[in-house]
Amino acid sequence: MAKSLYEQALEVFGYAADVMKLDPNIRKFLERPQRTLVVEFPVVMDDGRVEMFTGYRCQHNTARGPAKGGIRYHPDVTLDEVQTLAFWMTWKCSLLNLPYGGGKGGVKVDPSKLSKHELERLSRRFFYEIANFIGEKRDIPAPDVNTNAQVMAWYVDTYTMHAGYPALGVVTGKPVEIGGSVGRNEATGRGVAVTAAEACKLLGKDISKATVAVQGFGNVGSFSAKILYEDYKAKVVAVSDVSAAYYDPNGLDINDLITYRDSNKGFIEGYPKGKKISHEELLELDVDILVPAALENAITQKNADKIRAKFIVEGANGPVTPEADKILLSKGVTIIPDILANAGGVTVSYFEWVQDLQSFFWDLDDIRSKLTKMMKAAFAEVAKTKEKYNVDFRTAAYIVAIERVAQAVRLRGIYP
Ligand code: NAD
Repeated sequence: MAKSLYEQALEVFGYAADVMKLDPNIRKFLERPQRTLVVEFPVVMDDGRVEMFTGYRCQHNTARGPAKGGIRYHPDVTLDEVQTLAFWMTWKCSLLNLPYGGGKGGVKVDPSKLSKHELERLSRRFFYEIANFIGEKRDIPAPDVNTNAQVMAWYVDTYTMHAGYPALGVVTGKPVEIGGSVGRNEATGRGVAVTAAEACKLLGKDISKATVAVQGFGNVGSFSAKILYEDYKAKVVAVSDVSAAYYDPNGLDINDLITYRDSNKGFIEGYPKGKKISHEELLELDVDILVPAALENAITQKNADKIRAKFIVEGANGPVTPEADKILLSKGVTIIPDILANAGGVTVSYFEWVQDLQSFFWDLDDIRSKLTKMMKAAFAEVAKTKEKYNVDFRTAAYIVAIERVAQAVRLRGIYP
């Protein structure tokens, strides 16, 4: 039987825990998601019918602070997926040294089949259902796949109506007008670009001469492509989204592609400047850097052998399965793991939360420079740990992250 996503994630965790000789008592505690809420809730559709939906919110571990992590809307959302994503958030927050534990949520729904009003009613009702579980000091959601600043605005308003005060810090990734942070939109992509550049520097590759392929052209993929293209002068030769994939060996004009996507209901299908290729071909292109920025399990043991990229910088969460990881490492591919590469989003979410709690807002230069500094510091810590234990980047990142959470548990002790 195929392994569940959580079992796959535990394998990666377990390997790092073995290498660092983690205390088995602490290990037992860290392996399990602390709390999960499952909600079944009704939504009145535009035609008057009532439809039932299932949603989840999981807090994996809160030893270092309140839970933090996005909420995803997707027809394939499951309890297993949400718990795994929460597990990964614990390590990501710890790796960036943020005062948070890991959380994640999701609703099993295809939002493209809902009208805007239906989406609003679903969002508000879901947030009401989980309202007692979350809070500014308890668990702070954010956007993830198919949720955005507008959805966060509905969440804040719903929570505020029940709390009786403007609870702006209850979610991050909000519109700037209601307590959002400048630079949050681009933050994950900026972090991907910064870590890609650090990896190139460490391994003696000039990023301005690098070719890049990006899978997924949503928030993470499009900003990764844009920043690599604009700020680091890398040549982004291929991009895909769920609708299509395009390739131009001379480099795509990413701003032009974003403009096209935004005028084409959010999809790149039909883009006139570039050769249409298949989704598989994009992943298998002979490029320097591949950024998988769509969903989990994009690279598995089925296609790992065909990957020709020299660096994989994981924009998405869990895009490479543990089996594929082994194949890629044996081929000499350098993989910058998700908990490091895509941590820019949660880092600026942290900045947003701090700004909300203080009601004092920072400017874009401040956000970008603080983010870049923190991403570089995390990268350097991982690189140092990689040398110390003679392991790959992923294992090193887990060792750094697990050690910080383990130390929090040691200091706090096990209640009672
Ligand atoms: P999004 O919904 O904005 O974009 C997802 C993109 O992936 C879309 O362009 C979609 O068309 C594309 N896609 C879906 N299936 C595909 C396929 N089979 N082939 C090619 N493209 C496909 O979501 P997002 O926020 O960009 O999140 C993407 C990934 O990054 C997820 O794994 C998410 O958990 C992770 N992530 C997001 C953030 C964030 O700040 N948004 C932070 C960290 C990690």
